[in-house]
Amino acid sequence: MSPVRDDVVVVGRRHDPEDHRLRDFLTRTAQPHRWVEAGSGEADALLADLPADVALPVVRCGGETVTGATVERLVEAWAMTAPPARDHYELAVIGAGPAGLAAAVYAASDGLSTVVLERDVPGGQASHTSLIENFFGFPGGIGGAEIARLAGRQAEGFGAELSFLRPVVGSRFAPGERTTLELEGGLAVTADIVIAAPGMLWRRLEVEGVEELLGRGVYYGAGRSEARHCGGDDVVVVGAGNSAGQAVMDLGNAGARVRMAVRGEGLGATMSQYLVDRIAEHPLIDVQLRTEVVAVHAADDGTLAAVTLRHRDGATEQVPARALFLCIGGTPRTGWASHHGVATDAAGYLLTGPDLLRDGRRPDGWPLDRDPLHLETLVPGLFAAGDVRSGSTKRVAGAVGDGAAAVALAHRRLAELHGA
Ligand SMILES: Cc1cc2nc3c(=O)[nH]c(=O)nc-3n(C[C@H](O)[C@H](O)[C@H](O)COP(=O)(O)OP(=O)(O)OC[C@H]3O[C@@H](n4cnc5c(N)ncnc54)[C@H](O)[C@@H]3O)c2cc1C
Repeated sequence: MSPVRDDVVVVGRRHDPEDHRLRDFLTRTAQPHRWVEAGSGEADALLADLPADVALPVVRCGGETVTGATVERLVEAWAMTAPPARDHYELAVIGAGPAGLAAAVYAASDGLSTVVLERDVPGGQASHTSLIENFFGFPGGIGGAEIARLAGRQAEGFGAELSFLRPVVGSRFAPGERTTLELEGGLAVTADIVIAAPGMLWRRLEVEGVEELLGRGVYYGAGRSEARHCGGDDVVVVGAGNSAGQAVMDLGNAGARVRMAVRGEGLGATMSQYLVDRIAEHPLIDVQLRTEVVAVHAADDGTLAAVTLRHRDGATEQVPARALFLCIGGTPRTGWASHHGVATDAAGYLLTGPDLLRDGRRPDGWPLDRDPLHLETLVPGLFAAGDVRSGSTKRVAGAVGDGAAAVALAHRRLAELHGA
């Protein structure tokens, strides 16, 4: 990952979904930037040397200008990422969240040829949070995107390749043979060892009209890139976990009037106590327990205007909302597992190591004369790390620990493969 650029200015439209995607991308890659709303005097001055009908958004940085900027165009213009350089790696990692990035740092620093394949931007879920306050070694907290950028650069410094906006769309596993990973766009790489660290997929809110308003006032996740634009607005946050807690704090601190819709009886069971305490003290945050969003309403310009809340007693109320943030957790990204004979628990998380044993016996179909290693799945040489693993802690530190441990175990499998 390249170092951050100085003086990046973007002229765009706040409620355009593509512009939101670009803003979200810049925020979640920890690229500092100034957003200037199109149509303002400042925007006109910034665009004065360009044709009047220039395609928005426009990104300017030093002497460089990208017009009609999309994530893909900017990535290309700034040469931010590249396809894998080799056909074969000793170790391939699927997912550049904290688990995948940690695996890359440890694998590459151990001298393994390593590639990390990421469908989105590095950082995973952590890239959505403005401040991780409980990560070891950062007493003042650290932004999720910032830690991902640092980890990505560290991994690259040791020689790992980090290829993002590059989803793995298919795979072929055969015991004792190289694994093939198929990438979007027709590329493929092979690897001796694969660490699966694909994390979680946001759970969708099953309310009519939500999908049409995505990026136009409705956002999945903590809306890190949006908070600073919400000052003075009425906003609603759905959820009761730490991600929802951090979102309401960011929004309240930006001056938004925040309603937090919580289905359950309280926050204490699902949120860190320090966030519960800060939310209780915040004058702009109103926590509404036993409450759900049951409808969304658009303004004439197609952006979100209001939502309907339903309380446990059946009463409903329509409240103004310029933004709705959905922080309602996720499900593991393991739809592929059953096609490859990779076992999961009832909730879909990957089973590994001792969890695969039944009454102390090796699972059916296990081909080796040893038990599965601690983080190894039902496919020898395919390890699971981070949130996707059954029994993992769903914390950044836990994911990082899994990534590091998976690499240590990968060495044992490599030794088997190479007859050491
Ligand atoms: C808003 C928010 C705030 C949080 N705050 C905290 C906190 O304060 N403290 C804390 O400890 N934890 C926090 N967490 C939890 C923490 O972020 C997660 O536990 C951690 O990110 C899990 O890391 P992971 O690498 O296992 O998975 P993820 O972070 O989910 O990363 C998985 C990555 O894999 C990629 N991927 C998925 N499928 C593919 C594919 N087919 N091909 C290529 N790439 C793929 C995804 O795009 C993603 O980048 C927070 C989570 C959220 C959402």
